[in-house]
Amino acid sequence: MENCIFCKIIKGEIPCSKVYEDDKVLAFNDINPEAPVHVLIVPKTHVRSIMDLNEDGYLLISHVFKVASKLAKDLNIDEKGFRVVNNIGENGGQTVPHIHFHLLGGRLLQWPPG
Ligand code: C5P
Repeated sequence: MENCIFCKIIKGEIPCSKVYEDDKVLAFNDINPEAPVHVLIVPKTHVRSIMDLNEDGYLLISHVFKVASKLAKDLNIDEKGFRVVNNIGENGGQTVPHIHFHLLGGRLLQWPPG
């Protein structure tokens, strides 16, 4: 998508602090971290949210969670626990309209979220 900031990061047109990449997803450190570990796992296909997924898209989300599990281990947040967050739409707090999952850890996270 032409004006999508995450598509530009995926294409390498805007730099990021890359943590992981494969053929389906790119993971990078959030530019404005809310926790000691705050990684965004971003599917490379431009889809606004889970509301726009097709059957292949659902498989892709399964892959996102596999990557989240691997990164949690690699970043040493698996033992104490962490959170995977997907914000959807305006009330959900989604500011970038390209589906992505926040991997947050390294501190005690509050519940419920604000
Ligand atoms: O869920 P939401 O859409 O609000 O999350 C977008 C996230 O993308 C924010 O946490 C923001 O800090 C991050 N971001 C980034 N690099 C950019 C633009 C946004 O890490 N260039």
